Amino acid sequence: MKTINKRIFLLVSVTVIFAAVAALLMFSMFSHAEEYALKSINSHLYDNGVLMNAGDIKDVNGTVLAQTVDGERVYSDDSDIRKAMLHIIGDNEGFISGGIQDTFREELCSYSLIFGVNKDSKNTLNLTLDSDLCAEAYNQLGSYKGCVGICNYKTGEIVCIATSPSYDMYNKPDDINDSDKYEGVYINRLFGGLYTPGSVFKIVTALGAINNIDDIFSQTFYCDGSYTTDDGEIICNDVHGTLTFEQALNYSCNSAFAQIAIQLGAEKLNEAFVQAGLDKKYSSIDRFTSKGGVFSAASTASSSDVGWAGIGQSTTLVNPYSYLNFMCAIANGGKSYLPYFVKSAEGENGREVYTAVPVDSGVSISPTTASSLKEMLRTTVSNYYGDYMFGDVTMCGKTGTAERDDGNPHAWFAGFSYDDSFPYAIITVVEDSGSGLKYAGTVAAHMMQSLYDKTVNK
Ligand SMILES: [Zn+2]
Repeated sequence: MKTINKRIFLLVSVTVIFAAVAALLMFSMFSHAEEYALKSINSHLYDNGVLMNAGDIKDVNGTVLAQTVDGERVYSDDSDIRKAMLHIIGDNEGFISGGIQDTFREELCSYSLIFGVNKDSKNTLNLTLDSDLCAEAYNQLGSYKGCVGICNYKTGEIVCIATSPSYDMYNKPDDINDSDKYEGVYINRLFGGLYTPGSVFKIVTALGAINNIDDIFSQTFYCDGSYTTDDGEIICNDVHGTLTFEQALNYSCNSAFAQIAIQLGAEKLNEAFVQAGLDKKYSSIDRFTSKGGVFSAASTASSSDVGWAGIGQSTTLVNPYSYLNFMCAIANGGKSYLPYFVKSAEGENGREVYTAVPVDSGVSISPTTASSLKEMLRTTVSNYYGDYMFGDVTMCGKTGTAERDDGNPHAWFAGFSYDDSFPYAIITVVEDSGSGLKYAGTVAAHMMQSLYDKTVNK
């Protein structure tokens, strides 16, 4: 009798454990069904790890950038557009990380719990990007490495992204892994690049000064071609004489900005860096994470180190996407939506399966401070670079020529349209080139005029 009881107990125990495990498995299957179905192993979607079946990807004008035709993934028939859009869409083999064919595959490949994966997905992913503009920006970079980003500062919608180098996935270069020409080719430099900022950093120093130095607008600064600190010397690009704060930004005077940075001190400068959102790794609603910048000067830094940091010539590193967002915030009264480019996804019969909900970037600058910075960036263009350069666009902006020990400077331009009926901000970095105005400024001017022609002058 004892033995029978033992056996019954054992049998019941085994049954209970079996049922529990089965229930757990079922639960996991259902709750992760979509994930399992969309894994690369699913032969309906992938062939040897290569994406085959997925819906269309369209740019802001409805131009098809990627689609599946007879079970094969087909991209734009324009090689410039293929190259320009490569880092956004992603490649078939998965070298490019963060491409939307991967990160938005659930929206691209229609799935239902009852019918599973629809291998003839009719879903469409709609972007805010204009692929012609992206190709134009890519071509503007020429043989230089670098990036361009243009964003609507009222809505956060990015209309143009270019990153160089890139390649045509239909003709992948044989020397892609060996040639310096393709160094970092799989990275989208707008989101993943980190650069010495040079003089574009003076906008951050100016933000700190407006926040913390009450009489900054009535102070004057003297420049005789350099500024001697208690432990070194900061060299200027010219002999500027006596300048106001605004003129110091207009003429990008290193002597004046070193003095301003030293007045502020490393901690207040770092506060401005953080307030501008430049330290943040942004998690975009487009499902990529940008690189966070690094501010160099510690609270114990020497006067010279603080001075060099204040003019962007130190070990401080800045990410272009974060800087674009900072420009959007200044242009937009002190706040911004985090820039994004995937607008929506729709299923068959136009059913919405994804709609972008823009998020506050977290940058918060007081409206009066944002307005002061905006006016100073406006006079930097009108008093110094010259309005003729920007054609029809009333531009605000600042260049940077980031000197480096091991090559030509990185050229920067950061700015935006003054007129908010044409509400666009732009960031341009041209690596290992030369003067910020000559290399990045001309690309920015060309692209802003081109966008103006497409939207206002059309
Ligand atoms: Zn100077």
